[in-house]
Amino acid sequence: MNYRIKEIFYTQQGEGKNTGMNSVFIRFTGCNLWSGKEKNRGNAICNFCDTDFYGTDGINGGIYTKEELLSKVRSIWLNKDENINVVLTGGEPLLQVDQQLINFFKENNLYIAIETNGTIIPPSGIDWICMSPKPKTKINVSSGDEIKFIYPQQNFNPKMFEAMNFSHFYVQPMDSEKLQENINETIKFCMQNPKWKISLQSHKILGIQ
Ligand code: SF4
Repeated sequence: MNYRIKEIFYTQQGEGKNTGMNSVFIRFTGCNLWSGKEKNRGNAICNFCDTDFYGTDGINGGIYTKEELLSKVRSIWLNKDENINVVLTGGEPLLQVDQQLINFFKENNLYIAIETNGTIIPPSGIDWICMSPKPKTKINVSSGDEIKFIYPQQNFNPKMFEAMNFSHFYVQPMDSEKLQENINETIKFCMQNPKWKISLQSHKILGIQ
């Protein structure tokens, strides 16, 4: 199996419970809720995406086997004495991430986190599942480690997901021209609903990738 990768880079996780964790991000090409092309955004199921996941032309982008992926991850991981943390993201990484890749990474002692829109059931063995639900989709991932709800969204409320089997519940202000308004709304929601905590995109605030 070959994996189409937009970019691979070493950074700190900027969002949610694992904020500040040194990680290698592997961004898989493609999403099942938007083509990634601006001309299609208006008709996309998910139309507020702030990520470029189209193509393979980013830093360290390309087509990789699982062995090549591991080798690239190892080459850019700086803390050679520590276990490697990877974050599989996209786009929707589960369009490509399969059991073979997870098994191979686990055999090589990687800690694996994934960020998914919840429409595709993940392989087993992933250490940290972050699910960010989108409206008008069938959510097939009803358990995991954290829910990250982008807030606010019309006719789509975080409370719809409260009964799901996740350990952490986050609302994250939608990054748009109304960001400050969205932050205020998110804070208000958290104060009224203490099950939920605010997640900020700290990598954007700090100016890191
Ligand atoms: S589901 Fe995620 S990656 Fe896909 S278009 Fe929406 S925000 Fe972007």
